[in-house]
Amino acid sequence: MQLVKTARHLILRHCLKQSKIPLKIWHQITAKMPLMQRYTSSERMRIRLLAGEILRVKTIVPAKGMILTDEIRITIATQAAILVFGFESVENDLSLDWLRNWNQIIVYPAPFHNGRENLLSTDGFLVSWAGVESGETQYQGGIIVDWQDDQPHPLRVHANQVLLHEMAHKLDMLDGYTNGHPPLHKNMNEQAWFNAFEEAFKHLNKQIDKGRVTLINSYAATNPAEFFAVSTEYFFETPQRLNRVYPKVYQQLALFYKQDPLFKN
Ligand SMILES: [Zn+2]
Repeated sequence: MQLVKTARHLILRHCLKQSKIPLKIWHQITAKMPLMQRYTSSERMRIRLLAGEILRVKTIVPAKGMILTDEIRITIATQAAILVFGFESVENDLSLDWLRNWNQIIVYPAPFHNGRENLLSTDGFLVSWAGVESGETQYQGGIIVDWQDDQPHPLRVHANQVLLHEMAHKLDMLDGYTNGHPPLHKNMNEQAWFNAFEEAFKHLNKQIDKGRVTLINSYAATNPAEFFAVSTEYFFETPQRLNRVYPKVYQQLALFYKQDPLFKN
């Protein structure tokens, strides 16, 4: 089994070399991406190879007059690669396996109307809402993002990285449910994950009920799936804040994404 995995890994490495993003353009683009600055040169090389492979196997589609330049395509693929490159190793599933439930990213130039209706689940969570959005993910189908919201930007008080958010939803959906629980790695503990997220989700909802100012975006309190997606944004964009407010959630996400952005900041 190990031999098969090693062979798969070597084959992937070979494929990746064929779809490399040209070094000059890569440097120009990643110099503008704050999230990239925390990675070592060998990690950046892995991210570059993976981003090239994402560009080869996934489609990035413009909508509503959006003009997609090479720079935008590479930026999007790089953000996607940042999220999942930690999954890649000889012992584990390849990173691209984690992206198997979507094929395209549709990019709008600005926030868009989702064309849906408000819908509550039987247990009272808002699961669908009508309105203008910056991103959307459906169980079947691709990822939709609004480029205005997706530009790499300096860390803000409230993390907001719509592509990371929507991709987190797709990871969550890999086990067949959209419930804030993606398939966990073998070395992770289901109960520890559940406890960390349940406790934080309840705490956030309590803060809102009391009318307090929340330290992470209150949208996370919508339902457990949104909590996971929003906390993923914070994990990558403002790890200090997430670790300060919900350290157990930070620890679980570090185990899940196999990255420790706090340590690197
Ligand atoms: Zn969401």
